[in-house]
Amino acid sequence: MSQIDTKIRGLLRPEILALSAYHVPDSKGYIKLDAMENPYTWPETMVEAWLGRLAKASPNRYPDPACHRLKAALKAANGVPEGAELLLGNGSDEIIQIILMAVAGPDVTILAPEPTFVMYRQIAVSLGLRFVGVPLREQDFALDADAMCAAIAAHRPAVVFLAYPNNPTGNLFAPDAIERILAAAPGLVVVDEAYAPYADASFMPSVLKFDNLVVMRTLSKLGLAGLRLGFLAGAKAWIEQLDKIRLPYNINELTQISAEFALEQQAILDTQINAILRDRQQLAEMLGKMDGVRVYDSRANFILFKLVGHAAPDIFQRLKDSGVLIKNLHPAGGMLAHCLRVTVGTPDENRRFLDALAEALAA
Ligand SMILES: *Cc1c(COP(=O)(O)O)cnc(C)c1O
Repeated sequence: MSQIDTKIRGLLRPEILALSAYHVPDSKGYIKLDAMENPYTWPETMVEAWLGRLAKASPNRYPDPACHRLKAALKAANGVPEGAELLLGNGSDEIIQIILMAVAGPDVTILAPEPTFVMYRQIAVSLGLRFVGVPLREQDFALDADAMCAAIAAHRPAVVFLAYPNNPTGNLFAPDAIERILAAAPGLVVVDEAYAPYADASFMPSVLKFDNLVVMRTLSKLGLAGLRLGFLAGAKAWIEQLDKIRLPYNINELTQISAEFALEQQAILDTQINAILRDRQQLAEMLGKMDGVRVYDSRANFILFKLVGHAAPDIFQRLKDSGVLIKNLHPAGGMLAHCLRVTVGTPDENRRFLDALAEALAA
């Protein structure tokens, strides 16, 4: 071993050495349907108005650390109940990190159903926390409320994460199953509503009705992934404590200005969302008609499907060779064996994906 390796191994925690980095594939030149982005850009007039706002920024000054105006706009746009407070993060990934840093310590357990969003496990493990994954029901990826409650009783988790809708499966868990978990959990329950714009279901109105519930959202899947802005809504008592861990200027000024501006253009964003919802329906129907494809119901802006009689890694590679990048979930194994996930794109992108898939399946 070289000297630098010896130093690294002697210094870093074993859980860090054992982690794999979160891998983001190079997507340049591909039809990009791998990351749940909104495929639509802004109309020219909106871009001009936005640049006019940005021209008034003061990059020499620190941004508003409390984000007063942005928080007010987020509360109004997201139906945050009167009396609930917000914590803002550089993406909701940072909020997951803040929550887990707040509870980190020896013998602390974090729990979530699996398969789910991989950052819950990744961040928990990077902080030296124990992570317990409870399998979803294999048939439909529904929450197994009995198994969840049994695991909660056995492990007494400090935090339970529930993605609602779930990524990468796309389904919404049953609200009564979530309420059972809220009643059983000794710690905090984070309902992650990253896909709220596409779901037509939310725990936001109930966020103050349970003393252990917080609701997390992001602007990423709405269409502002490049800004990196997520937020957590909850009782002031929770938010006040978590806010102590947040780095003072984590939301930069360009993000604050741009997000405030975008939230004023809700009608344009709504038009984009409605197009994506319409095209999700169509894409699911077309996929469902293909031989060898099993489609799962989605309440998000992506669709999970399983290949029957074909190897997912081969089909994924053939799609890629045709210039279409989606997500291969087969390496995750278990219930996700032979599963692929496609983000709903523009009608043209969806068509090109479907054509490429039909060709790949026929090859
Ligand atoms: C994409 C995603 C996030 C992360 O969103 P960012 O705000 O971009 O960090 C969080 N949770 C789920 C379930 C997601 O799919």
